[in-house]
Amino acid sequence: MSKSIKRVKGTRDLLPPETQLWAAVEAEAREIFGTYGYEEIRTPIIESTDLFVRTVGESTDIVGKEMYTFPDRRGRSLTLRPETTASVARAFLENRLNERPAPTKLFYMGPQFRYERPQEGRYRQFSQIGAELIGDGGPFSDAELLVMLTRFLEKLGFSHLRVQLNTLGDEVSRANYRQVIHAFFSEHSDQLGEDSQRRLETNPLRILDTKVPAERALVERAPRLKEHLSEESREHFACLCRLLDSFGVDYSLDETLVRGLDYYSHTVFEIVDEGLGAQNALCGGGRYDRLIRDLGGPEVPALGFAIGEDRLLAVLPESFRREHAAPPLALVAPLGTVEVEAGMRLAESLRELGISVVAEYRTQKFKSLFKKVDRLGCRFLLLLGEDEVAAGKVTVKDLHERSQVTLPQKDVAGLLNPIQNGVTS
Ligand code: AMP
Repeated sequence: MSKSIKRVKGTRDLLPPETQLWAAVEAEAREIFGTYGYEEIRTPIIESTDLFVRTVGESTDIVGKEMYTFPDRRGRSLTLRPETTASVARAFLENRLNERPAPTKLFYMGPQFRYERPQEGRYRQFSQIGAELIGDGGPFSDAELLVMLTRFLEKLGFSHLRVQLNTLGDEVSRANYRQVIHAFFSEHSDQLGEDSQRRLETNPLRILDTKVPAERALVERAPRLKEHLSEESREHFACLCRLLDSFGVDYSLDETLVRGLDYYSHTVFEIVDEGLGAQNALCGGGRYDRLIRDLGGPEVPALGFAIGEDRLLAVLPESFRREHAAPPLALVAPLGTVEVEAGMRLAESLRELGISVVAEYRTQKFKSLFKKVDRLGCRFLLLLGEDEVAAGKVTVKDLHERSQVTLPQKDVAGLLNPIQNGVTS
């Protein structure tokens, strides 16, 4: 016997009813982002490897060790996208979207690929929902993006997420600070592990992001970027904080938050959910004013975020789940072979009105019928016997209320419709 084929390590099959929730979350994102003027972009999953090397940065874990990179049949180096911001920036330039009125507001959703060690909440193929605002450099855009993001998450029922916020300042601020931090960590390099030793030369700011417990203590004592911000950066951040306060976005300042990617400047943020365990970051984002220029384009400021959809779904509030992972509302069951076609017709007439119904095409004993309706999670059982069909009626069993009525088939929709639409319970 041949060995069965299994899914690739670090990937998942998303199964129903969970897929219903994914679709519902995505629909919610489309709706809310749409009210802010965001439009969807779909970029290819494969890109030239250079795109990520030039934007995400060679010193990052993503480019250094996590990319799915392979030569195509002509030997060109391609990479399965490990994130989508770089692709959006490339598409923005390639399709000359800068000729449209600024800012350009785009959202995307779809799979990303990183060769990481799989564990709970961390996969090699995972999905992100993200948005990018390209073409405005002011703090009002930062604030609007964060307001939109929190509104989206609130709509899903989240109420205790933590928004962590920091500023990395502009290029001048960071160049100053880089020197200060380089001097500090060089002095204490004996306390740094191998990865951080390497970062000391490539990108010392990233040491602040270390997860190594022994290094965290050193990071706590490191000089703060706050003391090296330019006047403009200070004002940008102060204005953002004031706006977030006034629009009721709950946040906390986290000076050690620097984010993994190289291209950020000014505002950076993460949203965490303590319920997620070790992999608790739900969303990350920030401003990347240099990115478009690094790709050979004009000086265009931008910012964005990416939500990890797998993790979002893992902690999705029960209220949203209940509302959206609904099983079919009713099972239509003929009691004899003669009634099968009538059952199909009744089911069809209900579906036309938007009511979700499954129909039984084989006659079954009551016992197995009840078992089935229970397993499917349907609330109603619609029974069609000889008498009912002859009289144009149907017997409706409500398994929640434990009640039963026999009524004309044309009246069933009136009973089921409000429940399908969540008007009554
Ligand atoms: P990043 O692009 O690294 O800023 O990640 C943004 C979000 O994507 C994170 O906050 C996570 O929720 C999610 N994410 C990143 N890497 C993974 C992964 N390997 N598996 C699942 N989710 C991930």
